[in-house]
Amino acid sequence: MRLIDAPSPNHDARPEGVAIDTLVLHYTGMRSGAEAIARLRDPASRVSSHYAVEEDGAVFRLVPEDRRAWHAGVSHWRGNTGLNGRSIGIEIVNPGHEWGYRPFPALQMAAVCDLCLAILGRHPIAPRDVVAHSDIAPDRKEDPGELFDWEGLAANGVGLFPAVGAPRAAGDALGLLGAIGYRTDLPLAVLITAFQRRWQQARVDGVTDAQTLARLGAVAFAVTS
Ligand SMILES: [Zn+2]
Repeated sequence: MRLIDAPSPNHDARPEGVAIDTLVLHYTGMRSGAEAIARLRDPASRVSSHYAVEEDGAVFRLVPEDRRAWHAGVSHWRGNTGLNGRSIGIEIVNPGHEWGYRPFPALQMAAVCDLCLAILGRHPIAPRDVVAHSDIAPDRKEDPGELFDWEGLAANGVGLFPAVGAPRAAGDALGLLGAIGYRTDLPLAVLITAFQRRWQQARVDGVTDAQTLARLGAVAFAVTS
């Protein structure tokens, strides 16, 4: 892994007594990687992440893991709020839906995978707690989006992606979403859209069809077994 130190001033102390148990993946959503990394290091922006991964696979180390970086904003997962306090954040360079969303290059994904594996080796983060920004802020965020290869990462030991035909938990959509970790006090279509960006990427329309419900059951089963 090509690691480049590029310190950001945008961090503070983690809360007392809270373990690092969540890994949050983002895309940068800016026109270029250089512009995004400059913003993550600009004291005026008040945003940061622990790492940023360029499209060529270079990994920038911005904030030490024992400090709280400012990447998630208002966020909810598994009943916790303010996920910055308990998470590591990785920004992955991509123009995003606003500036020309495009596939993440293989070199970049390989670097993301290596970086995640290293982080998972240092902290007790369960597969179910490797999340998208859109999972923890479904009403505000769509990153890293439906072109991000969650299935490939899971095949390499990062996160969770049950196979088609895997055993399923029973229940209604909202109950299953809650069991997985999503907040449930938002419109169902908003939550289903976030779920589909992760686990049903061929169709991201917020509609709870039979296929989406089957995937929901499979993921809910996987997180509780
Ligand atoms: Zn984000």
